[in-house]
Amino acid sequence: MITHWIDGAAEKSADGATFETINPWTQEKWDDVCEAGQAEVDAAVAAAREAFDNGPWPRMGFAERGAILHRLADLIEEHIEELSVADSNDMGKPISAMRVKDVPRAAQNFRFFADHARMSLAEAYPMDSGHHGYSRYEPAGVVAAIAPWNFPLMLETWKIAPAMAWGNTVVLKPAEDTPASATIMARLATEAGVPDGVLNVIHGFGPGAAGEMLTHHAGIDRITFTGESNTGRHIAAAGAQQLVPVSLELGGKGANIVFEDADLDAAVSWSNKAIFTNAGQVCLAGSRLFVHTSIIDEFVERFVESAKAMVVGDPTNEDTQIGPLASEVHFKKVSGFFDDLDPNAKVLCGGVASDGSWVVHPTVIVDAPLDSRICREEVFGPVVTILPFETEEEVIGLANDTPYGLNAMLFSENGRRTHRVAAALHAGTVWVNCFFVRDLRAPFGGVGWSGVGREGGNFSREFFTEPKAVVMEA
Ligand code: NAD
Repeated sequence: MITHWIDGAAEKSADGATFETINPWTQEKWDDVCEAGQAEVDAAVAAAREAFDNGPWPRMGFAERGAILHRLADLIEEHIEELSVADSNDMGKPISAMRVKDVPRAAQNFRFFADHARMSLAEAYPMDSGHHGYSRYEPAGVVAAIAPWNFPLMLETWKIAPAMAWGNTVVLKPAEDTPASATIMARLATEAGVPDGVLNVIHGFGPGAAGEMLTHHAGIDRITFTGESNTGRHIAAAGAQQLVPVSLELGGKGANIVFEDADLDAAVSWSNKAIFTNAGQVCLAGSRLFVHTSIIDEFVERFVESAKAMVVGDPTNEDTQIGPLASEVHFKKVSGFFDDLDPNAKVLCGGVASDGSWVVHPTVIVDAPLDSRICREEVFGPVVTILPFETEEEVIGLANDTPYGLNAMLFSENGRRTHRVAAALHAGTVWVNCFFVRDLRAPFGGVGWSGVGREGGNFSREFFTEPKAVVMEA
């Protein structure tokens, strides 16, 4: 049974409510999950409020708090297998990706933000009047964190780590499809010495349920949300009602541009990763691939070859690169794009598995009209459209012709061009000749439907603290 974690202890729901978490590879239940109602949301917020208002956490020095967060990172690394199995069972993610990427990065999130907060400088303002002014970054209070299912542990820690490092307390609601790793992490936090009430986890659904109850709760001071753009609109409305700052990391429809002077080996290899990593269930996916007409035939041939070579299947096999989609609901959503495909679109490889599994094979589509669903909407699956372009100006227009703006990639060996195009793209991140390379100090977030606000380094500090000005008579 996957329980809530409230005030430093495993808790069941008062009314005994539960739901099932399904392993999308076996298509069977692998555990029961406690389902929070108003009583559990209230208890979690009350515990976080008490820990913030009267507990030691916000009052501790950065070094002491940082040492506890480093201990938590150590424990995450020691429990790599338990955490890997949890997310892999919950969402069908290949276990190798958990071991090599997601769990190490979760530990790194705690280490980075612990050190970043400790090393942060605050501004001083020598004033003409002779007064001395300076800034303080005070913890904001109780943070409501709502997370998606695609990188469960990794994205939860991306929110929780800076919130905790800056002295806040947290109530986390993981996605209903991926509850397991959050409770394990909260247990490890208590073991590491995080005081009771500082990190609380409640499980449940979104609309009309735990998610909505949490974001509408009068006891919270911040909402940090990652998920779909439409859900983001509801969360923003909840924040507006209570005048609580909201950080939104939302959907994407990333453009990936391959110019005629690109290093083709690198472009094929990175473009494959950009769309097929995590079975395309990545907000940053390079799902719109634009290739210069002079190289498109060779590129498509090599790219299709790379897609066909991917190892698809059982996520528990060390070699598997693509498992099933995360749930039956999501599988049906992605399959719907194939049902709606424009008659002119050609599927060069991949497609929906016909063996009853929830697998979608790495799919490459050409000749889809620019205004068709597959080119406009976020598929969130291993499906890419490839389209030709002639000029730099034209492709900038094509890339920016979307309401989303999370990220873009471009491949070119012409340095001037890469700077010029990177500046012209409407996106929160532009990767040049690479993909998914992150510096946790850099701003992360999107424009348009891809989000509001930025997280990472000082950007997380701005969100998770209340900057205060102090002015002293000299
Ligand atoms: P989702 O919006 O359906 O759900 C996300 C979370 O919100 C879940 O925990 C859900 O229970 C909760 N929720 C849903 N409705 C709610 C409501 N009305 N009030 C409060 N909580 C509510 O998203 P998902 O399907 O879990 O995740 C996939 C989406 O997330 C994709 O669009 C993807 O692009 C996006 N995403 C964005 C980033 C980013 O950093 N920008 C990262 C990962 C995923």
